[in-house]
Amino acid sequence: MTRGSRNPVSGATTPLKTPAQRLAEGLSRQGIHEPALLAAVGRIPRHQFVDDAFKARAYELQSSLPIGFAQTISQPAVVAMMTQTLLEGGTRRRVLEVGTGSGYQTALLAELCEVVFTVERVKALTEQARKRLAALGYRNVHFGYADGMQGWLPYAPYDGILVTAAAAELPPGLPEQLAPGGRLVIPVGPPGAQVLKVIDRGVMGFRQRDIATVSFVPLLAGKV
Ligand code: SAH
Repeated sequence: MTRGSRNPVSGATTPLKTPAQRLAEGLSRQGIHEPALLAAVGRIPRHQFVDDAFKARAYELQSSLPIGFAQTISQPAVVAMMTQTLLEGGTRRRVLEVGTGSGYQTALLAELCEVVFTVERVKALTEQARKRLAALGYRNVHFGYADGMQGWLPYAPYDGILVTAAAAELPPGLPEQLAPGGRLVIPVGPPGAQVLKVIDRGVMGFRQRDIATVSFVPLLAGKV
């Protein structure tokens, strides 16, 4: 069966857009301009990353939704902004994500980078995300069940590090795991007063700036 509607005059069919493609259009209207990123959002079936009870809301721009274990899948608008920020200003071949959660951000990075390393401190979430991404055909992701507060040393250095939970203070080990030219994007601060920090590793050392206020679940120590 053809998806789409037939024009009664010309007889031509216009393909219907998928919810993921409509989400990408919404992001584009909000200022996300990186074509490869928008195309990747348009390809990923986000409803497969949320619990059944929330599938109807999986493509809302501004909604973070529960994924169990008191964790949430971040809002598409924030995920896209953080991803665009990470990718700008350099080639990001090897990327580390801290906080695998549902695996949606992981999938997005896997679409855009050569190899993705992702660590999660909740074992059940790691295993669920691993199965999900394997079923979707991703082969360039390495999953770690680990406390990623200070990064993931075995595979460092990274061209990019994206942290998807908020640190009370910038963990000193994280910028150290950046390769020269690498970029770290991380929410920092207490609940209600978090800022998104961008840290670049240049030849002369590190440069830091704040780009947005955000609201993330906390980055916690240890594994569960
Ligand atoms: N990127 C995820 C966001 C999940 S919320 C997504 O797209 O769904 C943040 C995640 O960070 C949670 O799953 C939480 O368990 C995890 N987390 C918190 N502290 C951590 C730490 N120290 N190391 C690794 N993961 C951590």
